[in-house]
Amino acid sequence: MSVQQRGLQESLPQQETIVAGSRSQRTASQPGTQRITGKLLATQGYVVGIEISGSGARQSVALADLNGTILHHIRRPLDDVPDTNTILQLLNGMLAEVMDPERLQDGRVLRVGVAVGGLVDASRGVVRTLHHAHGWDNFPLQDYLEQRLDIPCIIDNNANAAALAEVHYGAGIGERIVLYVGLGRGIGGGMVINGKIYHGTTCCAGEIGHLLVKEQGQDTKQICSCGGFGHLEAIASAQAISRTMIGLSIEFPETEAAIRRITGARAERITAEQVFRLAASGDRVAQRVVDGVYTYLGIALANIVHLLNPSMIILGGQVAQAGELLLAPLQARLRDLCLPAASQDVHIELGKLGTEANIIGAVTLALQDI
Ligand SMILES: [Zn+2]
Repeated sequence: MSVQQRGLQESLPQQETIVAGSRSQRTASQPGTQRITGKLLATQGYVVGIEISGSGARQSVALADLNGTILHHIRRPLDDVPDTNTILQLLNGMLAEVMDPERLQDGRVLRVGVAVGGLVDASRGVVRTLHHAHGWDNFPLQDYLEQRLDIPCIIDNNANAAALAEVHYGAGIGERIVLYVGLGRGIGGGMVINGKIYHGTTCCAGEIGHLLVKEQGQDTKQICSCGGFGHLEAIASAQAISRTMIGLSIEFPETEAAIRRITGARAERITAEQVFRLAASGDRVAQRVVDGVYTYLGIALANIVHLLNPSMIILGGQVAQAGELLLAPLQARLRDLCLPAASQDVHIELGKLGTEANIIGAVTLALQDI
């Protein structure tokens, strides 16, 4: 029996034990240093990617070869918002299935990469928070997985992972300074500079969902997942767009009827893409919602362009499914709001990896420096 199998067949320890055991290890390692960066220079073997979200909607594990080709991929979405133990139990089962010895004919798993849909301290391998889920605050996920699997592990925020994946395999190939904007349930950002994720001092670089873009944000009760007002996420995330649309439509019977028609009478299911399409078809309420997205996302991107001077901005997540209805107006906003020298060479593109960006990102994390 391999070490990997033994690790997976152990019963799941209580969370207190995991945290306490890893806390002593953390004090021994130096904050700010990423431990899993040594070059393996391997030519044979595999990597494993893991995707974890706080919403329960996206839990998956993938086995990939050293070229990044995914050989096997398992998804186990959950209906409700899971706690730590629920997700870890789920992961253990998926890891055992993906790393079945039958699949590992060309060698062992060399590294595991994890894309986490929350705040992550990548330098210490710790999940700071997993939005909407309980029990993840300061959870030492990297230590936990390394001890269970006896395989080096690297964890990062899912937007950083998706950014890296788009630069290596998607829309940003060959680009030197790239901003990735994940417009999903929340808003995440990742900056990849010269092929590497830029983390900042405390691994908070790129948290663009919390950029303050609307000074009077509290007037409209658009509250962010962090509790703040006027943040970009509270205006331009998929959840914010749907909520604002439903809230505004109450006073407009024609718009309400249109929403019922396109959602099969389940208004709460309206997607950001559907709001953009309603706006394009002339619905005034949808146009108001969409104009807010253009305005405040435009302000955020214009500020970032002046700070970072990127060559490409890649838009991913559910809101990006609006396609040209989102791209063209944003490109125009950047032209209007930025110094020509800063914006003339910025291309805004849709991500090419779509909903797979996070899991491919996890695999890409694992492949770094191999
Ligand atoms: Zn916020």
